[in-house]
Amino acid sequence: MKFTNCSACGKLCIETLKKLCQACFAQREENYQTVHQYLLKNKGATTIQASEGTGISLKSIHTFIREKRFIATDFPNIGYPCEACGTNVQEGKFCGSCAMRLQKEIYVLNLSRDRQAAVEETSTYRTKRWK
Ligand SMILES: [Zn+2]
Ligand SMILES: [Zn+2]
Repeated sequence: MKFTNCSACGKLCIETLKKLCQACFAQREENYQTVHQYLLKNKGATTIQASEGTGISLKSIHTFIREKRFIATDFPNIGYPCEACGTNVQEGKFCGSCAMRLQKEIYVLNLSRDRQAAVEETSTYRTKRWK
């Protein structure tokens, strides 16, 4: 059995997947239920409205959405910010356009790295040869 500090209150507890002590875990479930109940009554609510309506922090609600605990199609307006531009997203780290842009950037980055490697190879070859 491993022990860890609860990530919410810092109390020493048995290590679980969520790194939460029992009290905080129960609190978290209660928060989830509160938000879920609110959303069921206000299906068109945004994440901010849900946070204001329930008093549960935006951060916790974002975590619940990331864990896919709400059915996105039932609650079309909830989400969490894209890590690059802040647009509302319901899954993954980035919104569609950022995901596409980043993919392209990575592609270009890899391309230039390959070219760089090729240049280095030819130059070491030359130095060896002329030594
Ligand atoms: Zn705790
Ligand atoms: Zn984005």
